[in-house]
Amino acid sequence: MSEVIATTPLPSSVPPDEVLRRIQGPGPRYTSYPTADRFADRFRAPELKAALWAWHVASEAVCAPLSVYVHIPFCESLCYYCACNKVITRHHERAAPYLEALDHEVALVVEQIGPCRSVSQLHLGGGSPTFLSDDELTELMGILRLNFFLTPDAELSIEVDPRTVDAKRLAHLRELGFNRLSLGIQDFDPAVQKAVHREQPFELVRDLMTAARALGFASINVDLIYGLPRQTPESFHRTIGQVATLRPDRIALYAYAHLPTRFKPQRRIEGADLPEGPQRVAMLADALSALRADGYDYIGMDHFALPGDALAIAKREGRLHRNFQGYSTQPDCDLVGLGVSAIGRIGDCFYQNAKTLPAYYAALEAGRLPVERGHRLDADDRVRRDIIMALMCQGRVDFADILARDGVDMRTAFADELVRLAPFAAEGLVELHGDGIRVTSSGWYVVRAIAMVFDRYLQQQHADRERFSRVV
Ligand code: SF4
Repeated sequence: MSEVIATTPLPSSVPPDEVLRRIQGPGPRYTSYPTADRFADRFRAPELKAALWAWHVASEAVCAPLSVYVHIPFCESLCYYCACNKVITRHHERAAPYLEALDHEVALVVEQIGPCRSVSQLHLGGGSPTFLSDDELTELMGILRLNFFLTPDAELSIEVDPRTVDAKRLAHLRELGFNRLSLGIQDFDPAVQKAVHREQPFELVRDLMTAARALGFASINVDLIYGLPRQTPESFHRTIGQVATLRPDRIALYAYAHLPTRFKPQRRIEGADLPEGPQRVAMLADALSALRADGYDYIGMDHFALPGDALAIAKREGRLHRNFQGYSTQPDCDLVGLGVSAIGRIGDCFYQNAKTLPAYYAALEAGRLPVERGHRLDADDRVRRDIIMALMCQGRVDFADILARDGVDMRTAFADELVRLAPFAAEGLVELHGDGIRVTSSGWYVVRAIAMVFDRYLQQQHADRERFSRVV
């Protein structure tokens, strides 16, 4: 263990502007490899059924616990920066048929994997899971507890829209067994909140966090976004300061990507209100210094945690993992995704459910698992996944580990990729050794750009684009 602690690089200073500019560039977040945009529609219900059944047969001897994700798509009001799969509605009666459909979907899954399989992680995301009333949340947890065995030490987490809960509702979530909360803050500045149509005063969040702590929630995560309309380096500095006083256990600091042609809600954001490149870099640099000064450890990509948080400890001990919810302390469990657009992974298969409610309901009414697309990993995917996840989680790849795990000698099989890492090495972002690759402390901030070098699909896409432009 000491060897890993000694060699796991922790950022010693804020990276140079050039590195910060790269963080803001587009690129996959590698919550999976291959990434979800590579899933194909030839993977449907029969393929998922077969994968679930194979898991059932293989896992009986092992008793491996599952992870479960439930997507609740409804939100009462639209945040203009939103890029999630959601349904905006004030009609709360829409929740009842959705719960019925979820019940049906769970039954179809359990038909394949068997009843009461152990679950060590449950996450309710959305949309806004707290769109559901207390009774509906009770009903949902009843469905899940009836069909799965939630282990006594399971991590039960839920995304909470601060505008939809109060201390009483938090107490109800605690009674239902939830022990982790994720709160969407984004920014505390009133002008920014108005510009993104998400108004939630600092005092509201502060009081909720105080109540959550008193109720014994083990971990509170908050999400922040920089690059939003009306944000300035000064206003975001104030927000970071306010957040630091709340001492959330974990902080996710995302960059806003303005893609109005792809995400319709973003068309309501005035382009002229958006901070320009240098301001974004200043916000990011300032946030990184402030979080470090406030005692937060850098976990990776855009995640920070207090040193005593399980994620920070796992990072120091080289036990960090990554799944569709981001960084995790638990080994990569098989994941059952439930609900519209939910993503899952069973064995070597990734899958995603139908993205619209009509398609999701129609599949279930026809008695079919509502899966719409997926991907079965081949041998090449598996080794690249192992390399990418080692980079993203440990910041290092040991050639001997890959040889032992995948039977592949990276020095020869990935000679081209190692050459492509040379410019990163020249900039001090990675170190290339005879026995492996190490991400440096500055390199941690661009770790997804480093991982992209090993993404066959992305490299193929670049090659095709180049070939295409040459042909044209
Ligand atoms: S950001 Fe969250 S709460 Fe806002 S519309 Fe999107 S899914 Fe709903």
